[in-house]
Parts: sequence; structure tokens; C-alpha cells
Amino acid sequence: MMRWLAACLVGLALPVVAADEVAAFPSPRVVPINDRVYVLMGPVQHANPRNQGYMVNSVLILGERGAILVDPGGSDEVGWHLAGTILGITSLRVTHVINTHAHGDHYLGNTAFFGARILSSEACRKEVQERGHEWIAMMEEAVGRKLPGTRAVPAAEVFPRGITGTSIQGVRIVFWVPPGSHTDGDLILYLPDDKVLIAGDILVNGVVPTLQDGFLRNWIGTLDTMQTLDVDRFVPGHGPLMRVPDVRALRATLAKFHAGVEAGFKKGLSEAEIRKTLDLTEWEKLERAYVIGRNVNRAYLEVERESFDDVVEGRAGIKREVSPPSPPNPSPPSPTSPSRTERTH
Ligand SMILES: [Zn+2]
Repeated sequence: MMRWLAACLVGLALPVVAADEVAAFPSPRVVPINDRVYVLMGPVQHANPRNQGYMVNSVLILGERGAILVDPGGSDEVGWHLAGTILGITSLRVTHVINTHAHGDHYLGNTAFFGARILSSEACRKEVQERGHEWIAMMEEAVGRKLPGTRAVPAAEVFPRGITGTSIQGVRIVFWVPPGSHTDGDLILYLPDDKVLIAGDILVNGVVPTLQDGFLRNWIGTLDTMQTLDVDRFVPGHGPLMRVPDVRALRATLAKFHAGVEAGFKKGLSEAEIRKTLDLTEWEKLERAYVIGRNVNRAYLEVERESFDDVVEGRAGIKREVSPPSPPNPSPPSPTSPSRTERTH
């Protein structure tokens, strides 16, 4: 088998590594929130050869006749690794896999759950279709070898922007697709009966938030809305579980960052000059500090684009509403009546 695999991979740019040379996958830390919601916590790291690309939080939800898995990890192998952990928790088959967004470390494990229905936002499916191959290449680069069996499998069923209340395997779930925040295709899950919110990378704890595909002003608005919900435990995409004060702190950090970039732009400073004016010490201490430069770049471009929109709209004589701004998010789902649209799986 290994010889066949090696033969297939001959000539590819990345080395074929014998199985006994591949580092063992780190075990997830299993954190039960209650008797049916389990967080499978990955290492708080970036993807590297030691963790084999496994560094994401997944959530297992036990339903009536099957289980739901949110974010099956960054490769087919990681998905199988998580499947092994799940077998130690439940004999229920995973019938639904949900992807919070189209970053490969979260969804490339879809392939390991053959037969499960894959769900995501509409925009996420499009990103998986268009950029999946780039993510496979990035993950292979990060772990230093080819990732056998890993394919970018898009969702079979998608949610539009806004709020959809539904029930899967008897578990009430509110699917909330906010205006693009961490990515254009973010999907947040709210479990009103469990008071749990699963945020993907809109929430991170102990790592620098990654803005490179994001929209900073929307992101801050989404964090505002999140805090109005009846939630005990917030599950971030990376790092330990969070509570309301942690969400508030992340919101404050992003708002301060946004205000700093905007102030610099208004003074006519260049991106490099703005970076020198920002206090980034908090992020510099965290995992993934290498994304800080890209975050400054993306925030600068967003502020620049908004400024351009102001000018264009001013010239066109369009009255621009500046105070108060229109709400960036849909109304929060009500815990007692969560749905605008009811669907049953
Ligand atoms: Zn992400």
C-alpha cells in the first residue's frame, strides 16, 4: 500500500514521507459542555509538521439518531483522527458535517465523513469550489508533505445570509450567516437550548485574529450582536472556550485596531507609517503573530475603500447616512422564537 502510494506521488514537488516518519497527531482535548455538546479542542498553534495540520476546534453534537460535527479539520487524515476520537465518545454515526467557513484547516476533513450531509453558508460553498485547491497546497506546504485523500468537498446544502432556524437530529440550531466578518462565507451556529454559540474564527482565543479575508467593520458589528444572545459558552475556532467578557475584550481589541488604522489614514499616513503608530504588543505575544502585517494591510484597504465610497457618493449627491450608522447585522435570533425560516433535516 505504502509502495503504491509512494509510486503515485513520485515526481511531485513535496516529499513522500514514510508513515513512521510522520509525527503522531496530537490528541484533541475533549471538553464536554453538557451531555450532548462536546468540544474537541485542537492545539493552539499554526499548522506545522509536528501537528500535521491539526490545530482547530471541532464541536460534536449528539442528536437523537446521529451526530453532528462542526469543522472536521484540515485534511482527510485529520478527519479520520477526529473520527477515532468520536468513536470513544458515542456509537452514533456522524450524519451531518457543518463548515463554519472556507479556510482549509476547518473543512478539508469533510472527506473522512463519507455519507454525511455537508452544510455551510452559500458563500462558503463558492469559496471552497473556487479556492479549495489553493488551501490544499497551503496545508501541504505547512506540514511539509502531500496530504493523501484530501480533496475540497463543498457543501451539499447551504444557508443564505441571515438567520435560519432549524432542527437536526432533534437538536434546535439557529444558523446565522452574518455580513462577511472573518471571511465572506462565515456561518455561526447558535444552540439556544444549550446556550452555546459556535463561532468559527470570528472568535479566537490565544491566537491573533486573521483578517486577510475579512471585513473589519462587519466583524466588530457581529461581535456586538453575539453579545446580545443568551449564551453561556462561546466556542472559538482556535483556543479555549470563551465567555461574554472574552468576547467583549476581542471586540475592544479589533475596534481599537480599526480606529488606529482609520485615524492614521485620515492623517494621510502610509500603511507602513500607520503600523508604527499602532500598539500591537497584545497581538505580538500570541500565536500566529505573523499575520499582523497582513491584518494592517487589509484594514488599510478597507478604510481606503470606505473613504473612496464617501467621495463617490458625495459627488453623486447621494445622501449618506452617517449618524447613526445602519446596523451591520440582522436582528439577533430570539432564544424563545429563533427562526425566521423553519426547516427540518
Ligand atoms: Zn479562518
